[in-house]
Amino acid sequence: MDEKTSNFIHELIDEDLAEGGAYEGMKVHTRFPPEPNGYLHIGHAKAIFIDFGTAQKYGGLCNLRMDDTNPSKEDTEYVDAIKEDIRWLGYDWEDRFYYASDYFEDMYGFAVELIKKGLAYVCELTPEQTKEMRGTVGVPAQSPYRDRPIEESLDLFARMRAGEFENGRMTLRAKIDLASGNFNMRDPVLYRINHASHHRTGDKWCIYPMYDFAHPIEDAMEHITHSLCTLEFEDHRPLYEWVIANTSVPSTPRQIEFARLGINYTVMSKRKLRKLVEEGYVSGWDDPRMPTLCGLRRRGYTPEAIRTFCERIGVSKTASTVEYAFLEHCLREDLNERAARVMAVLEPVRLTITNYPEGKTETFLVENNPNRPEDGEREITFSRNLYIEDEDFMESPVPKYFRLFPGNEVRLKGAYVVKCTGCVKDENGKVVEVLAEYDPESRGGDPKDGRKIKSTIHWVDADTAVDAEVRIYDNLFSDPDPDGGDKDFIECLNPLSLQVLKGCKVEHSLKDAKFPNSYQFMRKGYFCVDNRDSSPEHLVFNRSVALKDSFNK
Ligand code: ATP
Ligand code: MG
Repeated sequence: MDEKTSNFIHELIDEDLAEGGAYEGMKVHTRFPPEPNGYLHIGHAKAIFIDFGTAQKYGGLCNLRMDDTNPSKEDTEYVDAIKEDIRWLGYDWEDRFYYASDYFEDMYGFAVELIKKGLAYVCELTPEQTKEMRGTVGVPAQSPYRDRPIEESLDLFARMRAGEFENGRMTLRAKIDLASGNFNMRDPVLYRINHASHHRTGDKWCIYPMYDFAHPIEDAMEHITHSLCTLEFEDHRPLYEWVIANTSVPSTPRQIEFARLGINYTVMSKRKLRKLVEEGYVSGWDDPRMPTLCGLRRRGYTPEAIRTFCERIGVSKTASTVEYAFLEHCLREDLNERAARVMAVLEPVRLTITNYPEGKTETFLVENNPNRPEDGEREITFSRNLYIEDEDFMESPVPKYFRLFPGNEVRLKGAYVVKCTGCVKDENGKVVEVLAEYDPESRGGDPKDGRKIKSTIHWVDADTAVDAEVRIYDNLFSDPDPDGGDKDFIECLNPLSLQVLKGCKVEHSLKDAKFPNSYQFMRKGYFCVDNRDSSPEHLVFNRSVALKDSFNK
């Protein structure tokens, strides 16, 4: 789980820790600061991997901090889900769990300090006017309130806090540089009025700090050494550093930016994911087609597979889109090691072994996982009445079809060689039963006389098989870039992303299948029990990933 590879973030930290560096002799301290307004997705997993992984690499600490400075849309449901997902990924913040709102009083104090130093002022431009007076590249911004006396700003700011003014009536702005080439430095807003209840502070506050003012203070209050964030904050770094330099915060964190993770065939913004949930395009945040961590978990993803993915995509300064197929590739590799091999028939047709005695049952011992002898063996039963996949029989075979057709022999995996003798059809001409004779000399699957059997097919014993529902997933979007340009991402949804198979027949041992165990259904892919809809009376399996690797190395 520890992150061994070097990356540009680690190189910068190495310099900081080296002799004469800014953080010489200090413990590396990072934080992961999610906004509790949605569930975590695979993009957050990358950030978690970088934040917690970097702390681990340096024997340091990583805090978990809810970035709840925005009052309206946050919810404790999300806070709990975020904690669960991070723990599931294998990371631990120990006792360092914080809320940005815990620092509201400190932030207010630092804002007053800035006003007193002549570095902030109360501005009465409306949001529209502020925008109009923002200037352009060669033209500075303006505010007629910039040079108002300190006493006046102190008084107005206190009255803003006391609730005397309605939303939008005034703001607190930093006094930095109206002509700056970086628009974030053109006297940015530090506080705005918002008469809204906060999920933790209730109605105590009606002014709320802007992210660019709040975040450096939160980091400094927690003695974060390295504040790792995504690239969109690069242009905000001068402001981050300005806040740290001009307030009496207790420490000096350093912000370092890295590229966001994008994956094709999916969307990653919480706003879009929320729309999919709220408008019923998916069954919930944990729909197995969602790129959320709870969705991936329900789909059968393992924390190991996700960490491996995050490690292999690396950390860079340039944004790029990773193939969804690569995420699947990482899962397949992991499940190949850990999943038990079992047999399940998804689209069953009866196979009757006509020369096998009626009422007889025999058992075969099979290895659970050839990669892991320690996982032991289990029994599967064989009788005259079996199920095979509908597609494993053709009455009139097409060229190169080597499975069952009249006169042909196949190996029933782990049991016997059987030879097809015909089939039974219903009044519509549909095959309802395939007939075959077994070779009693081929127990274990190989004929005694050494004759070659081209195909091996899977099967289950109809006398002991268990019914199941199986859900097969495809990409949620049929467009590789549903986020791109001015596309309506809803229009890009894949109408065939979920296929529900009822009446599947799975081997007896699967009646005790438990989430989160993974199973390889031979020839069909990796599956797990659905942790929401499955019950012992009605088993439901999700296909985590198909066997065939579509990732182009
Ligand atoms: P969204 O657009 O999904 O709402 P966000 O950045 O507003 O994303 P936050 O909850 O604020 O979501 O994110 C918490 C942390 O996770 C931030 O440090 C953010 O940079 C990081 N993060 C979010 N999305 C990604 C991503 N796609 N790749 C890497 N890191 C991400
Ligand atoms: Mg955010």
